[in-house]
Amino acid sequence: MNVVSADWVVPVEGEPIADGAVAIADDGTIAAVGFASELGEGERHEGCVILPGFVNAHSHIEYAVYAGFGDGLPFVPWIGMHVQRKEALDFDDMVAIAMVGAHECLRCGVTTIGDCSFSGAAALAAAATGLRAIVYLEVFGHDASALDRFHELHHVVEPVLSDRVHAGVSPHAPYTCTLEVYEACAALGIPQATHFAESGAERDWLVDGAGDWSPLANLLVPPPGETGIRLLADAGLLDQSLMAAHCVHADPDEIALLAAAGVGVAHCPRSNGYLGCGVAPLRELREAGVTVSIATDSPASTPSLDLFEEIRAAIVAARAREQRPDALTAADALELATLGGARVLGLDDRLGSLVPGKQADLTVISLAGSPFDPVEDPVAASILGGSPERVAATLVAGETRYSKGTSWLDSTRAARSARSRMLP
Ligand SMILES: [Zn+2]
Repeated sequence: MNVVSADWVVPVEGEPIADGAVAIADDGTIAAVGFASELGEGERHEGCVILPGFVNAHSHIEYAVYAGFGDGLPFVPWIGMHVQRKEALDFDDMVAIAMVGAHECLRCGVTTIGDCSFSGAAALAAAATGLRAIVYLEVFGHDASALDRFHELHHVVEPVLSDRVHAGVSPHAPYTCTLEVYEACAALGIPQATHFAESGAERDWLVDGAGDWSPLANLLVPPPGETGIRLLADAGLLDQSLMAAHCVHADPDEIALLAAAGVGVAHCPRSNGYLGCGVAPLRELREAGVTVSIATDSPASTPSLDLFEEIRAAIVAARAREQRPDALTAADALELATLGGARVLGLDDRLGSLVPGKQADLTVISLAGSPFDPVEDPVAASILGGSPERVAATLVAGETRYSKGTSWLDSTRAARSARSRMLP
């Protein structure tokens, strides 16, 4: 039995505990959560708050060094630049970049990712770094032969799959996958992730075959005459095994369909904002009973995998959109970034809060010397004042996978070299 303690423990399910402690069983699960005076001090983190590890339910860690590519370009030339630059990379480059992404997640206090993976490299990186992951292998195409790609990628990741790293499938989006591809993915019976209703241009293309994406017609599947959410709902393909990123342009009927089917949504406010897609209807999604999480998407569209920045962007976007300071409280935002992420990934029986029996995935945040010190409200202080630089330690299943000061020079060097070859 191991004990970690701090000035505060925030279980997310349950009230914050001053001078709290978490007892960790030998199998990496939480044995008890309570006062340090009862459980012992164990490893004491002075000036710190212990939170459940963040769950970033939508990332693409294989794009960890794509930051800034095509910033400010309209979507069509932007996506063209990404496709073209990615051609400069081989699989080893993608593994090196994914390693940097996985390390960056741990440095940001993220213990679990739901990652959409183009090459399978994300699974190798998660396994090597101890990050917990569902790696959704990406498929694109017109017919069920698109699944050939899934089977090839599955072969790549199979050796590293474990209790900690799971494989899923990601039919990329309704504009790159036909209904037939979605049906074939659903038939695999594994977790699925997709992108829904990201932009107005997506809707124009899917419904009318018109709009800004018309020049991309040869890269897209034929417009089905319907939005992705309605298309899949009509085909009976919306269910709890599916999670969807974005849903910025989901209308009230589509939100009701997502809620009724139990499709979880990864809210990615920075990605949506930087790409000029809009602000997702977070209040409407939550009021309808949709399970929502806060997620970064990738540095291809967002400057970083920093979930602290993402959480604050979600708070700012929600409060500005609703013109209410209580539209998304710090406590609500923390729940979306922990338990919400676990729910979206279907892992909330094991992750997302600090309760006995769940995995001991912990993020320790130091607030010493911050404007929030001495701490009045540990939730607001961690969410509004936290940053990767303030992460003292990140534990997955009770094991320390990051502690402040850790650097990973080898993978950083290889990934930097890969990025330099992508630049013109
Ligand atoms: Zn994405």
